[in-house]
Amino acid sequence: MRADQITTEESARLFADAAAVIPGGVNSPVRAFSSVGGTPRFITSASGYWLTDADGNRYVDLVCSWGPMILGHAHPDVVAAVQKVAADGLSFGAPTPSETELAAEIIGRVGPVERLRLVNSGTESTMSAIRLARGFTGRAKIVKFSGCYHGHSDALLADAGSGVATLGLPSSPGVTGAAAADTIVAPYNDVAAVEEIFARFGDEIACVITEASPGNMGTVPPRPGFNADLRRITAEHGALLIVDEVMTGFRVSRSGWYGVDPVEADLFTFGKVMSGGLPAAAFGGRAEVMERLAPLGPVYQAGTLSGNPVAMAAGLATLRAADDAVYAKLDANADRLAGLLTSSLTEVGVAHQVQRAGNMLSVFFTDEPVHDFAAARASETWRFPPFFHALLDAGVYPPPSAFETWFVSAALDDAAFERIADALPGAARAAAEAVAPV
Ligand SMILES: *Cc1c(COP(=O)(O)O)cnc(C)c1O
Repeated sequence: MRADQITTEESARLFADAAAVIPGGVNSPVRAFSSVGGTPRFITSASGYWLTDADGNRYVDLVCSWGPMILGHAHPDVVAAVQKVAADGLSFGAPTPSETELAAEIIGRVGPVERLRLVNSGTESTMSAIRLARGFTGRAKIVKFSGCYHGHSDALLADAGSGVATLGLPSSPGVTGAAAADTIVAPYNDVAAVEEIFARFGDEIACVITEASPGNMGTVPPRPGFNADLRRITAEHGALLIVDEVMTGFRVSRSGWYGVDPVEADLFTFGKVMSGGLPAAAFGGRAEVMERLAPLGPVYQAGTLSGNPVAMAAGLATLRAADDAVYAKLDANADRLAGLLTSSLTEVGVAHQVQRAGNMLSVFFTDEPVHDFAAARASETWRFPPFFHALLDAGVYPPPSAFETWFVSAALDDAAFERIADALPGAARAAAEAVAPV
């Protein structure tokens, strides 16, 4: 699809209508295209790797609902499972068998997870894991890393990635000093900084929370041994380690990042892929810790729709359909996309890094590998909007932010890659010709 064929009138009209009733017209900030400009596309349907917008434009999807759609959109097994279960009732507010099935499926894949509690969003999973770590240790302070995003709960917004990074917000008004006072923020990939924090506050720290491999400041993998160092330091000081696998879980392997880098955290958080595109998430870990939760223990946590049967069905169908061949395809597709990005940007001579973490990837416009949020922010992010829009105009849908990960699905085929290959040279030229802001 050529640029002159794209019209966005219907999306523009829908965006204006939305803005009259929803703040900024969106229910999650990055969707508004604030950092790239232009009209956010209102999506009306999706199938396989295709997204179709309200004007009838079609795009090869490289966002995959921010990760969950590893099988592609509207996968027949997942849709059939959801339809079948929905016909039997949507929510009961009582236990259902599929909750146990999904919990057992996850426990079977991630060794250190002995018990699992289901919640409704990744935000809830990390918020609850933090409360549990505080309840278990009787300590108040938590350590998080700059550029890591763990959802939008008060204590975890400090120096966060994702939309907070995209919009350049230091934190957020509405988070009180008291809510953030016990959050200590360390630079990512910096073991010495973590050692120093523990030397000073060791017996006050309840936990360290880290993204298993960060994807919310762009793709910035841990240095080899970094997660293991966090395990060692937390154990030395009687603090818990929470590994946030909301993004990586069941995406980078059938056991998530744990399948790549098996560090025995006390608690893990999951979301995205595990519910196949419906709202569900989970946190789990050692039985001794998890059994402090109500009703067994005193740490309270609950949810009206938690373990929703339709979400359980979507999650189970997704995990069961994602066999070894699917993970091999995801890796191959990420290799192929990374190869095309590298060759097109090299061709036009623009400094860039295509960073990888399993099948997750992102592009930074800089000479040097990016290991932390400071380096991500120092990259030439002003090259990203023209790069993004050239791809979008050519029918390829990358994430609308320089600080977000690109996600492939197993559905991508030769025709999809042809479209990407056709789109990239123009996008790379647009990135090369971008002018730095004064
Ligand atoms: C997406 C994400 C979250 C938040 O999940 P929501 O379902 O959006 O609340 C938390 N942690 C990580 C690592 C994520 O990528």
